[in-house]
Amino acid sequence: MTVGVLALQGSFNEHIAALRRLGVQGIEIRKAEQLLTVSSLIIPGGESTTMAKLAEYHNLFPALREFVKTGKPVWGTCAGLIFLADRAVGQKEGGQELVGGLDCTVHRNFFGSQIQSFEADISVPILTSKEGGPETYRGVFIRAPAVLDVGPDVEVLAHYPVPSNKVLYSSSTVQIQEEDALLETNVIVAVKQRNLLATAFHPELTADTRWHSYFMKMAKEMEQGASSSSGGTIVS
Ligand code: GLN
Repeated sequence: MTVGVLALQGSFNEHIAALRRLGVQGIEIRKAEQLLTVSSLIIPGGESTTMAKLAEYHNLFPALREFVKTGKPVWGTCAGLIFLADRAVGQKEGGQELVGGLDCTVHRNFFGSQIQSFEADISVPILTSKEGGPETYRGVFIRAPAVLDVGPDVEVLAHYPVPSNKVLYSSSTVQIQEEDALLETNVIVAVKQRNLLATAFHPELTADTRWHSYFMKMAKEMEQGASSSSGGTIVS
């Protein structure tokens, strides 16, 4: 199974290294035709405006949208999550082009700027511990986005209970408390919609490969499903 990693900008090398640790080859993708050579794709973290400008320059958006539409597995981390979202707020003036496909609204810089970056333990029921039970996951949030709302086909995989002193955003759609409030707010930070996986944090910047394993498992299951529904052989 070949995994493409969009290599325009950001943490693509780190994704390729994480895949290598699992014995999987990641292929750098910079041109539309290279997408034809891979069966799944990772869009890394970085800076989504810059990435979008480069994608536009290389005329990659039509091929990326086609890749998403054909149902091939795609995982976006951080800026990659923004790329995959159908709707984004908190954009710089004029906004930016999005690949879309994931029925959700993201806030680009929900958790603030670089100096407000942080690490936090989040509960992720789909990841299992060595003992087989659900375990917490140490998320690395760098100028991180968050998901403000999701459509009916989107499965929420993880929330981050935002401590009140970290709250930086409020709107009529998301009931976020003001800074001095005492309540925690559960903010969506990982989602899945059919072939699309998206995380607001950066698993590629940690030694923990569970999210990469999860994506590979998801890709394998989808490939098996596709080959069985098209009458092909199911590879176990
Ligand atoms: N908030 C950033 C953006 O808008 C993404 C940050 C990241 O990928 N670490 O692109």
